[in-house]
Amino acid sequence: VLAIKNVEKSFGRQQQTLPIIQNITLHVDHNEIVAVLGKSGSGKSTLLRIIAGLESPTSGSVLCNSLPVKGPCPDVSMVFQSFALFPWLTVSGNIAFGLEALGLPESEVKRRTVDMIDLIGLSGYANAWPRELSGGMKQRIGFARALAVEPTLLLLDEPFSALDIYSARKLRQELMHLWQQKTLKTQALVLVTHNVEEAVMLCDRVLLMTGNPGTLTDNFHIGIPREQRNSDNTQPLIEL
Ligand code: ATP
Ligand code: MG
Repeated sequence: VLAIKNVEKSFGRQQQTLPIIQNITLHVDHNEIVAVLGKSGSGKSTLLRIIAGLESPTSGSVLCNSLPVKGPCPDVSMVFQSFALFPWLTVSGNIAFGLEALGLPESEVKRRTVDMIDLIGLSGYANAWPRELSGGMKQRIGFARALAVEPTLLLLDEPFSALDIYSARKLRQELMHLWQQKTLKTQALVLVTHNVEEAVMLCDRVLLMTGNPGTLTDNFHIGIPREQRNSDNTQPLIEL
């Protein structure tokens, strides 16, 4: 699904460029969920933005479904830690945005938008504004917007970290449920998280981003089948 070779990214101009990540080579297969852990500033979000085509690498190649990622494309979409919803659009508008950009007919945009709102359990909020929603609801829209385009690869940049433990757990479970039921067209997930437990519960493989500039060092396979590390096992500290 994803093949990254020797990706490097530097920021800055001419003499003053600073490498942020380098030597990144990564393959993610069909059906895999991969976690990326690493300390703040190591370049995890930068890597995800490059994979999503929101930024271009200074050198190296990114292939999704064997095709080069040269800019934002429907094959890859992303969910952000801070939601990044468009404040000037309603819930429907946020979800429809990417579908319209794909040039889908209006009826198809409408159908998929309604379906996604139902899927994430926010029927009745189609015409609400992002500012009227709680963090958990905003992130549901974040997921709906990302999934509406039916991406092959879904990138998750600390998607649960701004939520309370209860909402985070619920959303994690729903995501895993959709994934296991194969309701999604999505074939692989890359999850950036600071939560080791979350990485172990949800993912098949855990990668570490370390060093300065950051690079992917270790690669641990979680040896336990996914069904046996069901995220339902984690009880919240306090039942709300
Ligand atoms: P965190 O865990 O805190 O989210 P991260 O691993 O996601 O951190 P990045 O956001 O990828 O880290 O940032 C890595 C480094 O790249 C930081 O030092 C940051 O200052 C720098 N950086 C990121 N984007 C830019 C930019 N557009 N211009 C200049 N420097 C940038
Ligand atoms: Mg980050």
